[in-house]
Amino acid sequence: MKKILVVEDELSIATLLKYNLEQAGFAVETANDGQAGFDKALAIEPDLILLDLMLPKLDGMEMCKLLRQQKMNTPIIMLTARDDEFDKVLGLELGADDYMTKPFSPREVIARVKAVLRRFAPTIIEPSEPKERVYEFGELKVYPERFEVFMGDNALEFTPKEFELLLYLLENKNRVLTRDQLLSAVWNYDFAGDTRIVDVHISHLRDKIEENSRKPMFIKTIRGLGYKFEEPRSL
Ligand code: CA
Repeated sequence: MKKILVVEDELSIATLLKYNLEQAGFAVETANDGQAGFDKALAIEPDLILLDLMLPKLDGMEMCKLLRQQKMNTPIIMLTARDDEFDKVLGLELGADDYMTKPFSPREVIARVKAVLRRFAPTIIEPSEPKERVYEFGELKVYPERFEVFMGDNALEFTPKEFELLLYLLENKNRVLTRDQLLSAVWNYDFAGDTRIVDVHISHLRDKIEENSRKPMFIKTIRGLGYKFEEPRSL
């Protein structure tokens, strides 16, 4: 059973989420401030965190950042009130994977939780599996099933969203992908969303895999169109 941690100080919302998520077959733990949420996240290692933005003691942004610093890659969906001065780009930069704006229906939340879990579900590899997929470009090696990326012998840390974006680029290598395409494929937005999210994540990927992120060898910007993962010729 998948474990969900709900960090929310408004008791009515926390209770509603817990009830509905449990009805949908999830195990749910709650915490009502940021510090308790942080401690609980480390203790129970949930499969997903629903994280309210405005929280006592430690707000959602800070908590998210601290978890990522602890190398916790659990997917995080940020919950924000419409009036919160929530900077989506900053939230995503700090490591949130998605966000939802209140008020939302429990049904919406459950659909989003399921979608996020599906995207991040590690594929179980049977011991007898003869070969696992690997994308290899010189020093760069990406193992989709293991959720691992190496540059030479160094393991690189990726948030689930960054990893998903990288995989999508790799699966479509040498093809130009527009920001809207990436937004809809990786973020499941079927409406015109804010494409700055894409740019922010691309720049994270470059910081991690490019030797010189200003002169990217792998992830090329195609002016006026979008991005392309290019297999370098000289490797
Ligand atoms: Ca709150």
